[in-house]
Amino acid sequence: MDIKANLDSVKKSFINPDCKLVAVSKTKPIEALKAAYAAGIRDFGENKVQEIQAKQPEMPADTRWHMIGHLQSNKIKYIAPFVHLIHGVDSFKLLKEIDKQGKKIDRIIPVLIQIHIAEEESKFGFDWAELDEMIASKEFGELTHVKVIGLMGMATFTENQDQVRKEFRGLKQIFEELKNRNLPEFVDLKEISMGMSGDYQIAQEEGSTMVRIGSAIFGSRN
Ligand SMILES: *Cc1c(COP(=O)(O)O)cnc(C)c1O
Repeated sequence: MDIKANLDSVKKSFINPDCKLVAVSKTKPIEALKAAYAAGIRDFGENKVQEIQAKQPEMPADTRWHMIGHLQSNKIKYIAPFVHLIHGVDSFKLLKEIDKQGKKIDRIIPVLIQIHIAEEESKFGFDWAELDEMIASKEFGELTHVKVIGLMGMATFTENQDQVRKEFRGLKQIFEELKNRNLPEFVDLKEISMGMSGDYQIAQEEGSTMVRIGSAIFGSRN
C-alpha cells in the first residue's frame, strides 16, 4: 500500500483544490497514520472513541482529530479535551451534552450538525423540521461551549450518481438557508463536510469544503 502515492492521486483528482481533506484512518494501524502524516496529512478521521484514544498519544501533537462517527453521550468526555472537530452531531441531546462537557473543562468544542440526506433509514442526522425546531428553541440560544461551524452529511450508498448529487445539493441548500437566518453568535457556518472515497468529486462539484476519505488513501477495510 503506497499511501503517499494514493494521497497524491486523490489530491490531483480534486475538483476544488482548496477543499479540506480529512484522512479517514479508522481500523488502520498507527503505521498507516504515520505514513500519511509524513506525506503532509494533519487531519485524521476516526469513528470510535476508543480508537482515537488509543492512537492520539502515538501521533505528533499537531495531529488534528476528527470524530466522524456516531458519538455516544457518555463517551464525549474522553475526546473533549483534544478533539479538533466533531462531525456527527445528530441530535440536540448530543449537542447539549457536548456543551456540558466543554463547560466542565472550559473548552469551546467545534462541531458540525449532521443532516440526514440519504434515503437509507440507517444513516443518522437531523431532518429540516428537527433542525428548525432546535434552532428556534430557547435552550439552543443558551449553549456556551460549542461552536457550530457547519454541516455534515452522507449520501446514499448507491451507484446512482444523480441521486448522490441531488442529496449533496440538498445539503448545500440547507446550508445556504441556515446562513440566511438570524442565528446565535456561536453558529458560524463555514464548512460543509460531504464526500467520501466514492463520491468526493461529486461532493466538491456541489460545494463541499471538507471531504472525508478513507479507502482511497489507506486501502479497503475488512
Ligand atoms: C468510513 C467513513 C468515511 C470514509 O469512507 P471511505 O469510503 O473509506 O472513503 C467517511 N465518512 C464517514 C462518516 C465514515 O464513517
